[in-house]
Formats: sequence, C-alpha cells, structure tokens
Amino acid sequence: MKLTIIGCSGSFPGPDSPSSCYLLEAEGFRLLLDFGNGALGALQRHIGLYDVDAICLSHLHADHCLDLCPYHVVRTYSPHGPHPKVPVHAPADAPRRLAAAYGMPEEPGLETAFDFVRLTPGVFEVGPFAVTAARVNHPVETYGFRISYGGRSVAYSADTGESAELVRLAAGADVMLCEASYLDEPGLPPNLHLNGRQAAEHAARAAAGTLVLTHLVPWYDPDRILQDASRGGFAGRTELARSGAVYDLG
Ligand SMILES: [Zn+2]
Ligand SMILES: [Zn+2]
Repeated sequence: MKLTIIGCSGSFPGPDSPSSCYLLEAEGFRLLLDFGNGALGALQRHIGLYDVDAICLSHLHADHCLDLCPYHVVRTYSPHGPHPKVPVHAPADAPRRLAAAYGMPEEPGLETAFDFVRLTPGVFEVGPFAVTAARVNHPVETYGFRISYGGRSVAYSADTGESAELVRLAAGADVMLCEASYLDEPGLPPNLHLNGRQAAEHAARAAAGTLVLTHLVPWYDPDRILQDASRGGFAGRTELARSGAVYDLG
C-alpha cells in the first residue's frame, strides 16, 4: 500500500499545497480520500487524469470535496468520450450539495460521472482496501477513515475536535494523518478542530506508528504546530504533511 499526500492545506489552499486530498494505491487500484479545492491539479503529477478508481469524502466542507466538480468535467466531457463512473462514498447530502456547487439541476446532477454511495459508520470494501468509517467531532456530518490492506493501515482524522472515535479508528495504525488546524492556545472553540498537542495526544492514545500532522492552515507557522505536537506525549515519529510526500507501507 502506498500513500501519497496530494493536498494537506487546511481550510483553503496554500502556496505549496492544495486543500485536503490523499491518494492510496494497492494492486493498481487508486483511492482518493477527500478531493479539496486545488487537488485535481496536483493529483496529475502522480497519476493519470482518468486513473481514479474510487473516492471517499469525509465531509462536505469545500476544502474537502469541491474538486469533484471539475473532475465531473474531466470524466464526462473528455475528448476520448465519457469515462466509467467512479464510486463516491460520501455523506448523505453529497449529490444535492455538489450538483448545487456545480450549478446543475439535481437530476442528473453529477451522476453521469459518479455513483454516490451514502456513508454510514462501519467497515466496507473499496477495491482491495478495507475501509472503516467512523463519525468524528465536527459541526457537520463528518467521517474519519481507516484504510487497511495487507496487514498495514492508514488512519485519517478528517476535520475533528477531540474524539474518542478517532482514537479507536487509529488504534495501532502504521500512519495516522491527523489534523492540526490550530495553535495550542487558550480559548479555542470546542468540537471543531485539533491543535498539534491534541493531535499527538490522540496518536499516543491510539499507539499509532507515525503521526503526520495535516490540515495545516497557511496562516500559521507549521514549525509551531510541530513544536506544539512535541508536548502531546507521543513517542513515535512525528512529521508535517507535505504535498507530494510518499509513504510506502510495503
Ligand atoms: Zn477542512
Ligand atoms: Zn470541515
């Protein structure tokens, strides 16, 4: 299983990264976790334009789903003819919300390019991967994911405040992609996002292998996020997500 970070910029794209998007590959199958704004461009540095086999959307905030709209154009209006539909596992309201974002009527919406599958908590198969979805702690319907293949696993927090579900989801994961949107300061709003220290605390409780701090918001110094994480009691390797970084999990 190979993980490539396509986009790790939090809330909006930054100069060096699109918004959230992660590529997982095994047995030639390509799964995207989230498809935030700007990700479609950077994705083409790593795979062909039509090579996406499935997509999981954690939630319907723009920085996690909006590039499904231009990708609808790619698959529907290609000069080579329309391409097969891609399954999109997403919260219930995705077909309506994304059709509205594109400016399409609800029928057919984006369903010429995508087969929307409603996410619910639990385990399901996507190509060669076992995907576990669990509700995390964010103001809209949001799912964290655990992707497993060949005895290895990657956990992804999506956007979340402190969450016991996230600890369960990431238990023993080889790589934990955990959001760290805030600086560790007093008075942060609850049930919305984590800071670096809290991300590390979750990784410690989950006994994850490597902690990759992600959803890094461009208005903060990423080194400060890393410094905050050093106070979270996590003994494993901790690093900042970077667009283009590849993790080969064997
Ligand atoms: Zn976000
Ligand atoms: Zn969000």
